[in-house]
Parts: sequence; C-alpha cells; structure tokens
Amino acid sequence: MKHDMGFDEAPDRHDGRANPVFLGVERAIHEHRLPPGTRLAEAELCEIYGVSRTIVRAGLQALTHSQLVTLVPNRGASVAKPTPADAQEVFEARELIEPRTAREAARHATPADIELLRRHSAEEHKALDARDYGRSLRLSGLFHTEIARISGQKTLLGFVDQLVSRSALIIALYWHRERARCDSQCHERLIDAIAAGKPDEAETLMRSHLVDIHTALDFRDAGDSQRDLRDMLLP
Ligand SMILES: [Zn+2]
Repeated sequence: MKHDMGFDEAPDRHDGRANPVFLGVERAIHEHRLPPGTRLAEAELCEIYGVSRTIVRAGLQALTHSQLVTLVPNRGASVAKPTPADAQEVFEARELIEPRTAREAARHATPADIELLRRHSAEEHKALDARDYGRSLRLSGLFHTEIARISGQKTLLGFVDQLVSRSALIIALYWHRERARCDSQCHERLIDAIAAGKPDEAETLMRSHLVDIHTALDFRDAGDSQRDLRDMLLP
C-alpha cells in the first residue's frame, strides 16, 4: 500500500537494509503477515522478489543482524521466535531508552516535527478506522522511531529502530487482544507534551505507555501458521 507520508523510509538505512528482501520481510513482520517461526527458503525468496541468491543472502544477513531472522547452518533461515525472556528484555530496554528520547524530543522538536507527528497519528487513526490492523501496528511502531529521530540522539535512534522491529514480532507472538497496537490516545497525549515543550511530562507518559504494553503481553504459546510464504509476503 503506497502512501505519501514518508514513513516508509526509516532514517539511516544502511548495511544492506535497502535490500528488497530485507524491506519486504521486515514489513510483513510489522504488518503481522509473517508469524514467528516461518521458514524463509532462499529459492522461494529469489522467485518471489525476482532477485539473485546473492541479494537474498544479503537481505537475510541484514535481517539476522536486526534479530528478526534466525539463520541455522544447514537448516536455513526462519523468522525469529523471541522467548518470553527475550520479550521481557526488549520491553525493559525500551522502558530505559524511550522515556529519554521522549524527554529529548520535547526539548528539540521543531514545528515541522510536531506537524509530522500529528499527520502520523492521523494516519494511524485512519488505518484503525479501516480495520487495517497491520498498517496501524506498523505506523504505531514507526511513531516511536520518529520520536527517537526528533530527539537528535543518533545512537539511541539505532537502538529504538531495532527494538521497535523486535517488538512487532513479540506483539505478533504474545499479544492476543484484538487491539494489538499502541493505544493511539497515548500517542496523542505524547504529541501534546512534546509540542508544549514539557520534557518531564513526555518522559512520564512514554514510560507509562510502554509499561502498559508490556503488562498486556500474554505468554501462552502461539500456534504455527501453515500458510504459503508467497501469500504472506505478497498479500
Ligand atoms: Zn506507542
């Protein structure tokens, strides 16, 4: 689905991450189309994306580097399956880092940044109203990356980018509620605090928002999907 908001371009894409296999698989994970544990056969990926094995391998390497894919020698690649302990760690890391990026965003945001966040939030609402839950989940993740970008902390941005990607997998595995996404009201309140230049409030809101998501995770086992890889990657 094409749109003109620019959110498809995560900042500072590098190390093979502009690779079509990387982008396609990452997006399918964000949109809940590709469940954890799904086998990613090289030959099939070559065919689906119409690219060479070299490009498929580079894409799989970059996905492994982002911890979205697990590569087992002689067994090939599959979508990573974070354990409950991995999930706890990811959210504990987010609870450490993101209150800080929200605080810094409140100190540094320009009117253009606020405008972008508001438009982003409106897109999230639109996706929700259209019951496009995959897109709304993806947008809600990118909202967090955007705040990290506004904070101006490039190193933290890299961490947040990776943690948000891994969160999509964790939410796919461990969140069983229908509304599998950030509560968009929380995002609105965060934007208000950032727009008003209130670092303390932005920090507190971000912390409680992440704790809310974390505590809603449900660590029962999730079933495996038997769907065809092509259907999951190219809906
Ligand atoms: Zn959120």
